Order: sequence, then C-alpha cells, then structure tokens
Amino acid sequence: MSKEPEKAGEKLEKQRLRNHTASAQTQNRAERGAKGPTEQGRKQKKQKNVKAEVESNTQDSLEEKVKESPQKAGKKRKSIDVEEDESRPRRKRKTAAEKEQEAMPLLPRTPGLAMKIGAHVSIAKGVQNAVINSVHVGGNAFALFLKSHRKWENPQINLADAKLFREYCQREELDARKHVLPHGSYLMNLANADADKQKQAYDCFIDDLKRCEILGIGLYNWHPGSTLGQEKQTALENIARAINRAHKETTFVKTVLENMAGHGNIIGSSFEDLAGIISLVTDKSRVGVCLDTCHAFAAGYDLRTEEAYQKTMQQFDDIVGLKYLSALHINDSKTPFGAKRDLHQNIGLGFLGLEPFRIVVNDDRLADRPLILETPQSDQRVWADEVKLLEWCIGKSGREEDFLSKARELSDRGLEERAKATAFQEKKAAKGSKKRRSSSTSDDSQPL
Ligand SMILES: [Zn+2]
Ligand SMILES: [Zn+2]
Repeated sequence: MSKEPEKAGEKLEKQRLRNHTASAQTQNRAERGAKGPTEQGRKQKKQKNVKAEVESNTQDSLEEKVKESPQKAGKKRKSIDVEEDESRPRRKRKTAAEKEQEAMPLLPRTPGLAMKIGAHVSIAKGVQNAVINSVHVGGNAFALFLKSHRKWENPQINLADAKLFREYCQREELDARKHVLPHGSYLMNLANADADKQKQAYDCFIDDLKRCEILGIGLYNWHPGSTLGQEKQTALENIARAINRAHKETTFVKTVLENMAGHGNIIGSSFEDLAGIISLVTDKSRVGVCLDTCHAFAAGYDLRTEEAYQKTMQQFDDIVGLKYLSALHINDSKTPFGAKRDLHQNIGLGFLGLEPFRIVVNDDRLADRPLILETPQSDQRVWADEVKLLEWCIGKSGREEDFLSKARELSDRGLEERAKATAFQEKKAAKGSKKRRSSSTSDDSQPL
C-alpha cells in the first residue's frame, strides 16, 4: 500500500507543476523556457500534434480537446503519445506482450463491496472504452462524458459503440442503471432566461439524457447553472421547468443535480438551491443530488471530522432529504474551508485530509451509490491507487495506527501545496472583497 502511493505522489508532484492556476502556468512557462532546445522542440512538436488532433473532427478528438483540467492533462499527454506512435510506427510499435500488459488492470477490482468506488474515465475512441478504462483502475463504478462538454455541436451517438458499451457493462457485471454517472456539458445553463440560449441548453440536456437511455444508464449528473444576475427563484423555476419537460421526453434516467463551490452567481452552492429546484420537479422519483465533497467544503459545509460530517449530512437531510442523495464526487480540496473555489485535490493531500473519506466509505447510507473520484491524475495509476486506498478505509476506525499513519503520510505530501494555497488565500483576503469576487468567478472554467 505504501510503496505505490509514493510512486503516484511523485507523479503528482510533476503534475502540480502543470497546475491550472495562472501563477503556476506562468511559472511553468518560465520552466519550459529554461530547458534545453531539444526538449523545447519536442514540446513544440507535441503542441502541434495537439492542434492537429483538435482540428480533426473525430469523436476521439472531441474527447481529448475538452481536457483542460490538471487531471485531464495526463490524458492529453497520453493522446500525444499516441500521435507520436502513429508518426513513427517502426520505432514505437508495441509488441503483443506490451499490448497485453497495457490491457491488464492496474489493480484488480474488489468484488462484493457495497461501496461502489470508481473514477471519471475517458471515452476516447468510443464510449464503450469507458468500461474498459474503469476496469483498468479497479473501479466498481465510473463517470464519463457522453460527448464533448465544451462544444455545442456533437456527432450523434454511435449505436455500434453503444451496443458494445452495454455488452461490456454486462460482461464486467457493472450495473449501468445504478453505478454509472455521466457528467453533463459545462456549457449548458438551463437557468438562462434568453429563449434561444435556453433552447440550446435544453437541446444539449435532452440529447444527453437520450444518450443515457440508449446506453442503459440510469443517472445523469450536471451542474445546475448560473442565475446570470436574474432573481434566484426565477432561475430555479427555469431549471425545474426544463427537468419536467425532459422527464416527459425520456423514460427512466434520473437527473442528478451537483452541488457547487459557491462562486459568483452559480446555482447549487447551498442545499437550499438544490431543495428549491427539487420542490418544483413533478416526478420526484427522477431527480437526485450528487454531493461533491470538494465543492461542499469550499461552499462552507465542513466534513473534516465525524462530528462535522454528521452535522453536514443532517443539514442535507433536513433541507434536501437524504433520499435524494444519488451519488458522491469524492475529491479533496486544494483550497481552504469556505474559499468558494473549485479546485480538486488528491485524496488526503488537500484541506479535507483522509478522515472525511474514511467516514464516507463507512457511511452505510451511501452504499450502492456511485462514489466517483475526480481527482488530478498524471496517469491512471493514481486513480487505481486511490480506489484501493478508499476501499482499504472500509471498516477502519479513525483511531487505528495504520490509518493515522497513512493519513499523516498523505497530509505531509500535500503540505507544501496547502501552505501555498493558505498564503494565496490570505493575500486575497487582504486585498478586499471586490478583488475576491472577481478572482473566485474565474474558477467557472474549472471542470468537474
Ligand atoms: Zn461537476
Ligand atoms: Zn464534481
């Protein structure tokens, strides 16, 4: 257990250098500039390949183009490697043994667990590959995008791929009705009062829901949207109206609202927002909530101790109702409590620490729901290790020495980054609320 997380940690350190904050990007550029011409040339070539890939109009490129977050940077690199393989087949062609090795799961799935833990995996080269990618990291649940989440226009669902998706789910004994949680487009704002924009958002929404039903998927997770400055109640009504209409046009898929981190006009940062939408939905059996631990923590719902966790869950039950809790996104947070910023961190390295996740995986109320990692990853080994780490926490008390030692080890690994985030937060607070507002809204582009 201890050796592999260290390996993942080293990669995370590299990953952190590619962090998506503006300062890190600037620093990163400086670092690249300082490197030798050969390496620079290689990087330029890689960038060129990315451009070519983005410009091609295949499903693969759509999937890869949307990768902007740190966790997606790894996938982008993977895609570049593929391009390079194709340009130099003689040198790079893999042997049958290497291919077989790559197809092997990094870590085997743990059978028979009530807690369905997995990650948000790639659909590159076809939606059916999400099943393979999930098995590869040992997941018993998974999330995926159904199409590019940063483009309005997308090719129709490939029915042959959809058939394979269903077959693979069956073969791997993955219940797509219960344990697969697609994530909706980030462009879609069903709260928008503008008729044309609302239609565009609705078309995207209903298209996704229909894709779910073709794939046999029972849950669909999406961000409620933004008020864009209009009255909150009007925005909630617009969203609920779209849900009601979509429920009539589909048969079984449940629309699952995600709680948000609390920046700007974003809807869903408070449990009241979520309850407000649900109260207006006619068929309440087909609406639910996906609780993102990082977003909740950033929005001011504490989860760090057993007491804080239980208090937050009680609040959720009182305001929304636990029966609506359909899924969890299990992410640590790169920013401090109540920072209203949406920056995911690897489990145990952030401001939440390992303890809340131990509590989550031992909360029987969350059994049989998808518990999805959206943590940064430089390669899939990170998720494989995190799935196993979380499964290892099942049945553990927070006082056991091996648990405490693991929590300390992970916390130490994240210490430097937390110190930087604290300093940033303090500096921002000192600059006053005006500056704070403008900075927090810049996080709207942070995926997941
Ligand atoms: Zn999300
Ligand atoms: Zn999330």
